Amino acid sequence: MSHILIQNLSCLQHFDHNGKVFEKRDVNIAINAHGVIEKISSSPITLPDATIIEGDQLLGLPAFVDCHSHTLFAGNRSAEFQLKCQGASYLEIAKQGGGIVSTQKATAAASDPELTNLIEQRIEAFLQQGVYGLEIKTGYGLTHTQEIRHLRILRSIQKKYQAKIKIWITYLGAHAVLPDQNKAEYLKTICNQTLPAIAAESLADFVDMFVDQGFFGTVYLQVQYQKATTLGLRCKAHIDEIKNLGAADYAAEHPFVSVDHCRHTTLKQLEKLQQNNVQVVLLPATSFYINEGFVHMQDIRQTGVKPAISLDYNPGSQPALHWPLLLHLGMKKMGMTTEELLHATTIAPLRALDEDVQDWCFAEGQKCKITLFRASDLAELAYRYGENLFDQGWVYL
Ligand SMILES: [Zn+2]
Repeated sequence: MSHILIQNLSCLQHFDHNGKVFEKRDVNIAINAHGVIEKISSSPITLPDATIIEGDQLLGLPAFVDCHSHTLFAGNRSAEFQLKCQGASYLEIAKQGGGIVSTQKATAAASDPELTNLIEQRIEAFLQQGVYGLEIKTGYGLTHTQEIRHLRILRSIQKKYQAKIKIWITYLGAHAVLPDQNKAEYLKTICNQTLPAIAAESLADFVDMFVDQGFFGTVYLQVQYQKATTLGLRCKAHIDEIKNLGAADYAAEHPFVSVDHCRHTTLKQLEKLQQNNVQVVLLPATSFYINEGFVHMQDIRQTGVKPAISLDYNPGSQPALHWPLLLHLGMKKMGMTTEELLHATTIAPLRALDEDVQDWCFAEGQKCKITLFRASDLAELAYRYGENLFDQGWVYL
C-alpha cells in the first residue's frame, strides 16, 4: 500500500492527545503505508505516488464509537410496534407473546451461522455510518447455555473484524428473567456457573445488569459485582431508566466502568459518579422511541458530567440502526453544543469502554483514525439527520 494524501480537507473536527476537541480548516494530511499520520499541515504536501483524496468538499471527524448496543438478536417486533401504537399496555403485549421473551425465542431458534450473519450485516451498517468502535451486549439468551453460545459467536466475530472495527463484548445475562425462571435462582446460576465460565474462557470484556423497577434490584447488582470483581471482570450497569433505585450510589462507590440510561439519576448522584470516574452514558434515541423525556445538558452541565451518548440499538425500545438520528437528538433534544456532541460520540464512549483515548486522537505519529463526510461540519450531520453523509473512513486500529 502506498501513502495516502488527503488534500485541502475543508474542515477537520477532532481531538488531541489530551482529549481536547479542536477545529482546523484547509488541512493537508499525509498517512504512510502503515496507517500512521506522518504530517498534518496547512501548506500543501508533495508526495509522489501517493493516493490522493481531494478533501475540499469534505469534513473530517474522529471515528464514532458506540458504547451501548444490543446488536445480537434475531427476529423483530414490528407486530408489537403496531399494538403499542394502538395503545396496548406492556402487559397486554406480553400476553400476546411480545416483549423480550419473543426476541429470546427467535434468538434461540437462530443457528450460529444465522446469528453470525445478522450481526455481521449490522456491523457493516454501523461501519457505513462512520462507527468504528462498537460495544455489543448479549442479553437475549437468558440461560447459561444460550448466553455462552452468544458470547462465543461474538468472540469469533470480534476476531474476524479486528482490523476493520474495534468490538467490545458485554455479558448481559441479567437483562430480564424468563417467565418460568426464579430471579434469585437465575442470579445464582449467573454467579456460580456463567461468570466463572466467562472468566475461564475469556469470553467477555464487561459484565452488565439491567437494574430497574421490575427487573433487578440494587442488591442483585451488589452480588453480581462482587462475584465478577473476584473473577477479574469489569462491570457496567443499566440504571435509572424507569425509576431511581439507588444503584448510582453503589456504582459511584465502586470502580464501575460506566452506568447507562441514567434518566432518573439525581444531580447529586451524577456529581458523585463524575468525581469517581464512572462514565455516564445517555441514550436519547431510546427516549425518543418510547416517548419519554430527555436528559438535558442545561441540567447536568453543573455536575461536571460529560456524558457519552449511544444508539442503544435493540429490537424492543430502539430499532433504528441510524447514527445520524443520535447526532440530531443529542443537539436538538439534549441541547448539546457541537463540541459536547463530538465529545459524547467519541471520547466519552471510549472512556465508557475503558479504552485509551490517546490511541484514537489525531496527531502526527499516531495511527490514523479519520472519517470523511460530505458536509461542512458536525452540526450539518445532526441537522440533515435523515441522510447518511458518510463518504469514507481511514481508520487504522
Ligand atoms: Zn441497553
